[in-house]
Amino acid sequence: MNNEHNDSFRDRIVTMNEEGRRNWVYANQPKGKFYTIRSIVAYVLLAFLFVAPHIKVASGEPLLLFNIIQRKFVLFGVVFWPQDFHLFVIGLITIIISIVTFTVVYGRIWCGWACPQTIFMEMVFRRIEYWIEGSGDQQRIRAKGEDTFDKVWRMLLKHFLFIAISWAITHTMLAYIVGSDKVMEYIVGTPSDNISVFMAIMIFTGAFYFVFAYFREQVCSLVCPYGRLQGALLDNNTLMVSYDFKRGEGRGPMRKDEDRLSVGKGDCVNCNKCVSVCPTGIDIRDGIQLECINCTACMDACDSTMRRYQLPEGLIRITSQNNISNGASFRWTPRIIAYTALTTALIGAMVVLFTLRSSYETTILRVQGSLYQKIDDTTYSNIYNYKIVNKTEYEGNLSIRLVEPQGEVELAGNTMLVKKQEKIQGVFLLKLQKEQLSGSSTKVVLGVYNGDDLIETIHTTFVGP
Ligand code: SF4
Ligand code: SF4
Repeated sequence: MNNEHNDSFRDRIVTMNEEGRRNWVYANQPKGKFYTIRSIVAYVLLAFLFVAPHIKVASGEPLLLFNIIQRKFVLFGVVFWPQDFHLFVIGLITIIISIVTFTVVYGRIWCGWACPQTIFMEMVFRRIEYWIEGSGDQQRIRAKGEDTFDKVWRMLLKHFLFIAISWAITHTMLAYIVGSDKVMEYIVGTPSDNISVFMAIMIFTGAFYFVFAYFREQVCSLVCPYGRLQGALLDNNTLMVSYDFKRGEGRGPMRKDEDRLSVGKGDCVNCNKCVSVCPTGIDIRDGIQLECINCTACMDACDSTMRRYQLPEGLIRITSQNNISNGASFRWTPRIIAYTALTTALIGAMVVLFTLRSSYETTILRVQGSLYQKIDDTTYSNIYNYKIVNKTEYEGNLSIRLVEPQGEVELAGNTMLVKKQEKIQGVFLLKLQKEQLSGSSTKVVLGVYNGDDLIETIHTTFVGP
């Protein structure tokens, strides 16, 4: 590695000083093509995040809903019930394995470009700071200076906006859980109408404010489990934001008319711009570090310096350590092949399961503890519980009929009209003639019909004498 002689930066995270106190990161705002593209990606994602729970599809369902309280989940307008939980588990595993695969190949691009924490921190909260308090350097000077009126009003305005945005984030998250209509009810109502919800909103607003106003980049460095996994996922073949130490060392300032090569200098002019824009406060020239979120801010900063001194861009670029050390290009390692194969298999399984997902879900169980009833000398009956979930967007006119053997189904009470996305449950009596019974347990097949269409067959048993 480039920093063979001084590895002291690995002794502690950069946001902590020797006494264990916080080193506040005053990152300057990057400028350049990567920051521009990253801003566009971030604002598209933010727009989606804030708008998605308020969009309703043709059926009236929201685009996205994760109502863990009522166990109702809606993905792109399609409702998923607790009975579809296996799809969620497989979906979750697929997403995790996909992120792992992506990380093995492309490093922490997710962290720097798509993670909500980074997007809010860098593209919302830090931009508010730039707007109100100036660049990172100005913020540092102001923080160390006297508590003037100018400093205080800027600080108050900043924190007021931070709280307002934290409040908006909390309500958006709530809309994903209880739906946007309910959130509107909470907003127009008074706190006493729903004191527990009001308390939850206050607590989460406070938590978001704490994270973005104070804890900030430490979420990535200290808390995020995905960040902790990096050591196991990255290898020398992984593409990541890297400093080309072969080209850059020995670093040193640019002197007029100096032939840098002949005096043993590399292309790094030691301008420190890459460090000044880093949102996690690290020096990429020290090599791969846990704190690096691959945000590419240092690439923009270094490229601008390279242009200024008419040196080739890309001293800091997205490449692998193998490429820098020996010019090796990307290759498919057994690990990448294994992760890719697993991801492909899981995505395939997801597609198959989604395709086979039934429109109705019926459960029929004999009432627990019940035995047969003798109705007359030739007829016996069993009593069953049924539950039918209508996962479609249409009302179902359902009936339960006996497919085999011959017999009679007698529904008790409930009508079998099932509204869209609702469930119905009740009991029914199954009557069989003595000659249909085959001992104490007779296999029976029941059919669930919508009108005259058979939509499901259920196999169960009939207890006889
Ligand atoms: S080292 Fe570069 S890519 Fe990594 S977090 Fe800092 S600025 Fe972003
Ligand atoms: S921005 Fe580039 S030239 Fe400047 S210190 Fe960083 S690596 Fe060296």
